[in-house]
Amino acid sequence: MIQSEAENLEKLVNAPSAEVVQFENALRPKDLKAYVGQDLIRNNLSISIKAARKRKEPLDHILLHGSPGLGKTTLAHVIANEAGANLKITSGPALEKQGDVASIISNLQENDVLFIDEIHRLKPVVEEVLYTAMEDFGIDIVIGKGPSARNMRINLPKFTLIGATTKLSLISSPLRARFGNVFKLQFYSVEEIKEIILRSATILNTNIDEEVATLLAKSCRQTPRIANRLLKRVRDFADINNNSVINKTILIQTLKSLGVDDLGLDETDREILGVIVDKFRGGPVGLNTLAAAVSEEENTIEDIYEPFLIQLGFLERTPRGRIATKRAYEHLNVEFFS
Ligand code: ADP
Repeated sequence: MIQSEAENLEKLVNAPSAEVVQFENALRPKDLKAYVGQDLIRNNLSISIKAARKRKEPLDHILLHGSPGLGKTTLAHVIANEAGANLKITSGPALEKQGDVASIISNLQENDVLFIDEIHRLKPVVEEVLYTAMEDFGIDIVIGKGPSARNMRINLPKFTLIGATTKLSLISSPLRARFGNVFKLQFYSVEEIKEIILRSATILNTNIDEEVATLLAKSCRQTPRIANRLLKRVRDFADINNNSVINKTILIQTLKSLGVDDLGLDETDREILGVIVDKFRGGPVGLNTLAAAVSEEENTIEDIYEPFLIQLGFLERTPRGRIATKRAYEHLNVEFFS
């Protein structure tokens, strides 16, 4: 199958190897000016950052949510940089015990930014430590055991927490309430993705003409991470063919070999839609049944495939299950009976 030659979408979006991390870091914009799109968030942040710097206070805690690859981690780097602060990075699953959070936070310096990726995956006991740390810049620890045990408060430096999540609904209300700003990252327009592709091509010393960049931008699921990774794949094809410029032929060849169509859908997207249409007469079909039918994890379908299919208006999530829309039928060239 085509995917043996290619990376599947999950790999394009997730599972960063050391090489991928290095590649992504090289392409990350460093400041708000270079950060493409998300205008509303950028404007708000620009004001908050200036105000905090003027008051010589740390920024309010910020929660970023949105699909994988839309720029949450990048934005955390940008915020820390613009605020003139150090950035420490960790993730929900990495913080296993209360002590893990306590030791990270107590080692921060005044005004530092702590970024917790996948913050929805924090264990409840670990999360509790964050409540006082975020609100009062303190941690309560218990000293001693039994009847002589007593509580002691450790004061922490004033810091800013930036949490990122793909699943806002899994963030508990007490945690959510402690973020002064909650921003939802949107999918990018074709123009914005094109800008990102041209910027990345310059950094990577790769020639791509504008028309081809626009075509490529249309196949990137409106997601910067996919844009950068597809650009890398197209560049590989161009190199193999000794082409100094990425042209339309190379682009079409690459997308074909990756099984990516002109809307950016890959084999699995089409399989998901095809299964709903063919096996379940357009739905509704439950997530677990759908996952079993396409042999994918429920999480993968929910986090990686569905958001874009919903964004395209191809799929609807209803209380009774997933439904393929008329547009999906049209894309698959199947007759629609309402
Ligand atoms: P997330 O944390 O949401 O999964 P990342 O911040 O890791 O996504 O972004 C993935 C890649 O996409 C980064 O390497 C970065 O270069 C690029 N990127 C993301 N957002 C932007 C943006 N607004 N402008 C330019 N490049 C971006």
